[in-house]
Amino acid sequence: MSVSKSLKKDIRSLSFEQLQEWVLQNQLPKYRAQQIYDWLWLKNISLFEEMSDVPKSLRALLSDSFNITQIQAQTIQIAKDKTIKCAIKLYDNNVVESVLIPTTRATACISSQVGCSLDCKFCATAKLERMRNLSYQEIYQQVYFIKNLAKEKYNLPLTNIVYMGMGEPLLNYQNTIKSIELITSPKGLGMSPQRITISTSGIAKMIVKLADDNYKGNLALSLHAAIEEKRVKIMSISESNNLAMLADSLNYFYEKTGTRPTLEYVMLNDFNDSIKDAQALINFCRKVKSKVNLIEYNDVEGSAFKKTSKEKLENFIKHLELNKIIVTVRRSRGKDIDAACGQLVNKNPLFSNVLTNS
Ligand code: SAH
Repeated sequence: MSVSKSLKKDIRSLSFEQLQEWVLQNQLPKYRAQQIYDWLWLKNISLFEEMSDVPKSLRALLSDSFNITQIQAQTIQIAKDKTIKCAIKLYDNNVVESVLIPTTRATACISSQVGCSLDCKFCATAKLERMRNLSYQEIYQQVYFIKNLAKEKYNLPLTNIVYMGMGEPLLNYQNTIKSIELITSPKGLGMSPQRITISTSGIAKMIVKLADDNYKGNLALSLHAAIEEKRVKIMSISESNNLAMLADSLNYFYEKTGTRPTLEYVMLNDFNDSIKDAQALINFCRKVKSKVNLIEYNDVEGSAFKKTSKEKLENFIKHLELNKIIVTVRRSRGKDIDAACGQLVNKNPLFSNVLTNS
């Protein structure tokens, strides 16, 4: 008798070891576990019938015992600069956004939570309630989806992944780490961890944990102000994670991993863009081995912030460089479709099943 659909477990929630156990419990040859796992994770199938080298009887047993969940692209929007934003519908009808950023290579910007529990004043996602964490499978499937899209639309291989979509990855720690394990595993996408960047609003305890857990990817901290009172004004997470705690955790991370963290700094007009602010940033950099990534502010509806003028940005950069700080500028991508940093807020018509390729 088949188990009713709602009682069936999602087969993607099983680890390889659990799948092996299930195979043995059902008196099947051990190699079947690998076969099934490869179909699920290497070939990313949606139906048990697609497992063409698995006997029909086993496919029937699998579909009697499990469901296979699959994410679905709800809408796909293409910006003038070729950035693509996808609204991804999850199995429970929640929606997150994933972005493909093409240059000479392709970068996937992926979400780790439905909404966000933080309240960063300059970020559109902060306006959404945090509904739930994404599972590691859902995070992995976004990467898989963007990888295929990069190939299909631009014939580009996916080379980089940034955890800079919706949500705070270090508040969904286990799933973030597990998704990276799968992305970097030869059983998954076999990508190099050095091509992966986790961006965090700054949860000192979890930065230390990343280092202790032997994380091999890159880390970016959303600093945005190196003057305590200013940072608290725009990011309330800094009330419990002050600059001194962050500096200590980043130094620990660098000592343990040998990877220099990046300090992200969104340039907000007349808020954090003066020479005094630059000097505070330099002082922070003197305490923490790091590099600075200045970010162009992207407009967010209802926000009081404006982007810095070109002149002030140049002066800020000059001041940092004179003080031997390694600095790069991240220009906006996909602004016309609200796909740039901090603009992901599920603005598209939901559940419309429209593919707006314009
Ligand atoms: N929660 C994580 C990752 C999500 S946001 C974090 O806070 O780091 C990715 C980056 O975009 C962060 O540095 C974030 O502060 C920045 N960002 C948010 N809103 C922005 C906006 N309106 N313009 C430019 N960057 C923004």
